[in-house]
Amino acid sequence: MALELVTLPCLADNYTFLLHDGETGQTAVIDVPEAGPIQAELARRGWTLTDILLTHHHDDHIAGVPALKAATGAMVIGAAADAHRLPPLDMALSPGMSVTLGRHTAKVIEVPGHTVGHIAYLFDGYAFTGDSLMAGGCGRLFEGTPAQMWDSLQQLMALPEETLICSGHEYTTANLRFAASLDGGNAALQGRIAAVTKARAQGLATVPSKMKGEKATNIFLRASDAVVKAAVGLPGAPDAEVFAELRARKNRF
Ligand code: ZN
Ligand code: FE
Repeated sequence: MALELVTLPCLADNYTFLLHDGETGQTAVIDVPEAGPIQAELARRGWTLTDILLTHHHDDHIAGVPALKAATGAMVIGAAADAHRLPPLDMALSPGMSVTLGRHTAKVIEVPGHTVGHIAYLFDGYAFTGDSLMAGGCGRLFEGTPAQMWDSLQQLMALPEETLICSGHEYTTANLRFAASLDGGNAALQGRIAAVTKARAQGLATVPSKMKGEKATNIFLRASDAVVKAAVGLPGAPDAEVFAELRARKNRF
C-alpha cells in the first residue's frame, strides 16, 4: 500500500507534510512550523502521529515541536550533526542511516547549503527537501557554500523524474519570475508560470512539485545548461560557478 501524503500550509508561507501508512497506521510529520494546523488535521483524519522528522534547525521548521511532542508523544528525529540546535531528539541520524514508516524506508541524505546540517528524507516517490531544493528554486545560502548546495541539488536531481518534491515554502512565483528574467525563451518555464499563476489565484499550493518539471524549469538545476551559462555571462564556466552566480543574482533580484 502506498503512503498517503497531506500537504498543510502553516504560518505565512511554510508547508508541512503528513505521511501516513495505511497498513500500520503510522504517521509522520515532516517539519513543524506550528503545532495547531497539524493537530487539527490529525484529529480530522483520525490519525495518530508517531514520528516527527526534521530537515533543519530554522525556527520556522521546528517551532511547533515542543507542543506537538507534548500532545502526541511522537518520536522526534533529526540530524545528529545538528542535535545541539534542534529540539531534543529521540533518534539522531548520521549520514547513511534510514528511517522507517511501516514497511516503507526513507534514505536520509545530507543536503548542506541553506544550513550545514540540513538533511532530506527520500521515501519511495517522495523527497522531503525542506529549504534545499524548492519548487522552482533553492534555499538561500545561510551557512553552506554554493559548491555544497550545488552538490546537494545534484544528489536530488538523480532521483526518478516522477518523484514529488515536498519542500518547505510557497516561494514558487518569485522563483519562476527570477528564472524567466534569464531564461525567458524556455517554453516549459512559461507553461509552468501560467499554471502557477492560475493555482495561486485560486489559493492552491504549488508544492509538492515533480522532479521532471523542476529539471525543465528550475533555473538552479540548470547551471550546466549552455543557455543558462550564457545568460549569466559565464559561457563555458564550471557548473558550480554558474550556480554560485545564479544564487547571488537571486539574492539581489
Ligand atoms: Zn530554513
Ligand atoms: Fe524555511
